[in-house]
Amino acid sequence: MSDPLMPHLTPDEVELWAQGLLPATRDAHVAQCVECRTIAERERKLIRELAQLTRFAPEFGFVERVMAKVKIPARSGPHFRPHTDA
Ligand SMILES: [Zn+2]
Repeated sequence: MSDPLMPHLTPDEVELWAQGLLPATRDAHVAQCVECRTIAERERKLIRELAQLTRFAPEFGFVERVMAKVKIPARSGPHFRPHTDA
């Protein structure tokens, strides 16, 4: 059967689509092809999640600041050494 659809998107084209940069001719394929749309939408979701991660990641020193607050007072604990060694 003659398939009116164009070939499926390449990984590069999926990436372009996720960024809204895919040419309209190929975009038309995504609109008609469930398979490509599923892949493309998954890719876009992934890109969004990555974008959020990189937005939070540069908070450098964050861990250090939290750890400074959380720092447990350094006590030697209940294990007092009996002075028996003299
Ligand atoms: Zn397709």
